[in-house]
Amino acid sequence: METILKITNLHKKYRKVHAVNNVSVEIKKGNVYGILGPNGSGKSTTLGIVLNVVNKTSGEFEWFDGTYSTHDALKKVGAIIERPNFYPYMTAEDNLKLVCKIKNIPYTKVFEKLELVGLLDRKDSKFKTFSLGMKQRLAIASALLNDPEILILDEPTNGLDPQGIRQIRDLIKVIANQGTTILLASHLLDEVEKVCSHVIVIRNGVTLYQGTVDGMVASEGFFELESENLAQLESALQQLPQIEKIEKDENKLLVYLKSHLEPGELNTLLFKQNITLTHLVKRKNSLEEQFLELTKH
Ligand code: ADP
Ligand code: MG
Repeated sequence: METILKITNLHKKYRKVHAVNNVSVEIKKGNVYGILGPNGSGKSTTLGIVLNVVNKTSGEFEWFDGTYSTHDALKKVGAIIERPNFYPYMTAEDNLKLVCKIKNIPYTKVFEKLELVGLLDRKDSKFKTFSLGMKQRLAIASALLNDPEILILDEPTNGLDPQGIRQIRDLIKVIANQGTTILLASHLLDEVEKVCSHVIVIRNGVTLYQGTVDGMVASEGFFELESENLAQLESALQQLPQIEKIEKDENKLLVYLKSHLEPGELNTLLFKQNITLTHLVKRKNSLEEQFLELTKH
């Protein structure tokens, strides 16, 4: 798989604050990456460095396997790292045409991208009449005019109402499905869980996890079990090699697994020992629970 961006041992220090602390990340073509972390964890700083608007303290980053200078590589990158800003009294179409003129892109792209973000029917409206969600979608259209390899978004749904949030998230998925690699920063877990295939969790500039979103969620999971005789159930469970630990939760047992065990298999094993379950549910931790586990100190 082609590498779009490789960051190696990146550091950024602002006087006392170690904003980015030894971050190494590889962004591969075709995936949707989320940098996830609470406010102040170094997400925007990291994006700023790779976009050449913030100076790094040390470490390296390399675009497209180093085949281009950073200056040329950034021509193949679409990024929105600030609030969308266009000429308020110009129409959506004219604003995008101006971007085309500056970047030497054919005007036909304006209509293609307005259509993509659902603003073609509003092409003649002045920018100042747009809602924040529409402004954000126009900014995405603008960033896509030159068909970049990768789209970078910093907190793309901040400040939007639920409908606006939904539209942006759906749009990101459409853009990803067309083959554009995406890197977004977000402090919202459910955003990353809904939109991204891969996640980099950072806190205080330090990477806590990176890998697939599924991988972060996929522990072997746990069972919730109930039975008339919990003591008997517990001693039977203690004999099973698949089980990591058992916790009591009121009249339930929470049974954490260290290796795979199907609910049917467990039920059969227990039934053979004359234990009848009155409640059997297999669960997995959500990304949120995993995240809280990772970031608690
Ligand atoms: P995030 O985007 O995850 O919210 P930032 O990258 O904006 O985090 O900030 C990371 C840390 O660096 C924070 O502690 C922030 O206060 C600090 N920081 C960011 N920009 C500057 C700056 N220009 N000068 C001093 N400190 C900064
Ligand atoms: Mg930020």
